[in-house]
Amino acid sequence: MALVYIALGANLDEPLQQLNSAAQALAKLAEADSLTVSPFYRSVPMGDIPQPEYLNGVASFHTSLSPLELLDALQAIELNQGRQRLLRWGPRTLDLDMLLYDDLCLNSERLTLPHYGMKQRSFVLVPLFDIAPELTLPCKTRLNQLISPAMRDELQRHQE
Ligand code: ATP
Ligand code: MG
Ligand code: MG
Repeated sequence: MALVYIALGANLDEPLQQLNSAAQALAKLAEADSLTVSPFYRSVPMGDIPQPEYLNGVASFHTSLSPLELLDALQAIELNQGRQRLLRWGPRTLDLDMLLYDDLCLNSERLTLPHYGMKQRSFVLVPLFDIAPELTLPCKTRLNQLISPAMRDELQRHQE
C-alpha cells in the first residue's frame, strides 16, 4: 500500500464543482477512509496565456495501485471531466498531478516523481502543508522549509 499526494487544479466550467467531483472520483482509488482533501485556494495562472484564475487543492490517500496504474486513473478522471490538452499551461476543467508516491523517485517517459514543479508552486505547497505539516520530501527537504510568507500572499483561501 502506497501513500500518495495529488494536486488538483481547475479554472473552467465551475472549478469548485470540478474539484469536488474529482475528490469523489479519487475516493474510489483510495483505501477505505484514507482520503484527505485540503482546503482550496484561488491562484493566478502560470505562464502568459490570458485565462481565468485557478482553484487549487491537494488530496492524499492510500492506494494499492501501481504508479502507472494511478497515472492512468488520474488521466481517466481528467478526461471524464472534459479535460482537453490544447496548450501547455492553458485553461482546463481539471488537472490532476501526482506529487508524491511514497518516497519513490522516478524519471520515465510518462511519469516523473516527485512532480518536477512542486517545490516552486505556492498553490501546491500551501495546501499540501495544510494536510501534511510534518512532511519531508524524498530529497530530505522538509516541506515547511519550502514555504515563504510571499508564497502564502500569492493565494486566497476559498471560503466555503
Ligand atoms: P505541469 O506538469 O507543468 O503541471 P500540466 O499539468 O498542464 O503541466 P499535463 O498536460 O497535465 O501537464 O501533463 C503532461 C504529461 O505529464 C502527462 O501526459 C504525463 O504523462 C506527464 N507527467 C509526468 N509526471 C507526471 C506526474 N507526476 N503527474 C502527472 N503527470 C505527469
Ligand atoms: Mg499541472
Ligand atoms: Mg497535469
